Amino acid sequence: MVSTRLLVAGEWVDAASGATSETRNPANGQIIGTFAEAGTADVDAAVAAARAAFESVAWRAMTPDERGRLLWRVAELIERDAKELAELETLDQGQPGFVSGGVSVPLAAQVFRYYAGFATKIEGTVSPVSIPGNLTYQHRLPVGVCALITPWNFPLAIAAWKLAPALATGNTVILKPAEQTPLSTVRLAELCVEAGVPAGVVNLLTGGPDVGRALVVHRGVDKISFTGSTAVGQQIVRASADDLKRVSLELGGKAPSIVCADADIDAAVMGNLQGAIFNTGQACGAYTRFFVQRSRVDEFTEKIAAAAGSLAIGPGSDPDTVVGPLVSQEHLDRVASYVGTGVDQGAQLVTGGQRVGGDLAEGFFYRPTVFGEVRDDMTIAREEIFGPVLSIMPYDDLDEAVARANDTDYGLAAVLWTKDLATAHTVPPRIHAGTVFVNQLPLIDPGAPWGGFGMSGWGRELGAYSIEEFTETQSVFLNIG
Ligand code: NAD
Repeated sequence: MVSTRLLVAGEWVDAASGATSETRNPANGQIIGTFAEAGTADVDAAVAAARAAFESVAWRAMTPDERGRLLWRVAELIERDAKELAELETLDQGQPGFVSGGVSVPLAAQVFRYYAGFATKIEGTVSPVSIPGNLTYQHRLPVGVCALITPWNFPLAIAAWKLAPALATGNTVILKPAEQTPLSTVRLAELCVEAGVPAGVVNLLTGGPDVGRALVVHRGVDKISFTGSTAVGQQIVRASADDLKRVSLELGGKAPSIVCADADIDAAVMGNLQGAIFNTGQACGAYTRFFVQRSRVDEFTEKIAAAAGSLAIGPGSDPDTVVGPLVSQEHLDRVASYVGTGVDQGAQLVTGGQRVGGDLAEGFFYRPTVFGEVRDDMTIAREEIFGPVLSIMPYDDLDEAVARANDTDYGLAAVLWTKDLATAHTVPPRIHAGTVFVNQLPLIDPGAPWGGFGMSGWGRELGAYSIEEFTETQSVFLNIG
């Protein structure tokens, strides 16, 4: 059993109220630890600490080179503790080992290293104004105190991809991990302290939605960087309107996959399946709506259902596991309810559709589920399920497939499967999604932006885009008469 505290002004402290909450192992439902449940007094203290650190000489006077070294050191510490961090992520979130150890932890280190390099490359511009005797230039300044609110599906990686650019650009932060999965973020905050981040620059508040709400309305917070559900993103926009906080939002998705008649069906089957069930479908970019050209739909459905039905299901700690548990009983119930709605609305259940019993009955396991004959207006085709549920829909011509793929509120990711070079180039610009993959799995790299169109969010993270998200542009008009 672990027991974690809050990090405020460089000190590890209990919540002012003494409140704690529990976190569970989704693979067996057992409580694995307690964490401090922050209240408004803790939010006030963390915001005050972040403000003081933002104004402090220790942080303001740190050179870009020194900030870069600090971030590089965090990357090294993540790599030093990679095994422990991966085990923690698997324990708390349920991620299969190949996800926690093969993606989450290496990506977190890679992101810190990427932004370590950026700290010395945040450049300005010079404007050719027509005012005689003026030198006019722009430079980028940190936004200030940033609240980084993260979801439960990739706790460490998403915390890293907000924290690293926020620090590279000279902000101070309050990390607020999801209440279901706080442990790896607590460990990340410990590594920041060990790396030598000055007191108050990184603060950590664990707790539920109320902590997030208090940060969003707090006048001392300059920016909210949020990753989570679209519904909460909308609440944040409304709640932050009073002081017009800077807000960036990475929200839900319902990625379409268009499988063309000329696609390599076996590659499409394996790539689509992996893209659909990666982290048990709990990925914002997960492939969910499969538009398959009618001439190939029977073959595709048969092959993907057979492959989905044979995937190894188990705890993330078992190296053979491909499909781990869902994060909580509540989420399991939600996924099961969507599947029930799919059946009720007339979709054809080809495989899955059940919770896993036997030795795994205590955990939150759900069988990969494939539906055929899904209509575009069915709930399972429209709403984000965030579980291992695949919906297959035949189409006749490509224009129709593109229109139907775009008929969604979301616009985070999409994938196209074709052997034709012209199709591979001409279809992506017609798809309303922040990222279009062609003939491959959904991948994330620190060098490329990530974010969505429409109700999938505001702004982009990663690459140089995060530098923009965490800075304000200031113009200086200098009279050199
Ligand atoms: P969630 O929106 O329920 O919670 C996310 C975080 O917000 C948690 O820390 C939670 O405590 C906090 N929160 C809840 N209500 C709040 C409020 N009113 N004000 C401020 N903070 C509040 O999301 P979740 O269920 O943890 O995560 C799953 C969702 O995240 C899915 O919709 C998924 O698509 C999305 N997601 C998006 C991306 C992306 O990059 N676009 C990445 C990962 C996950």
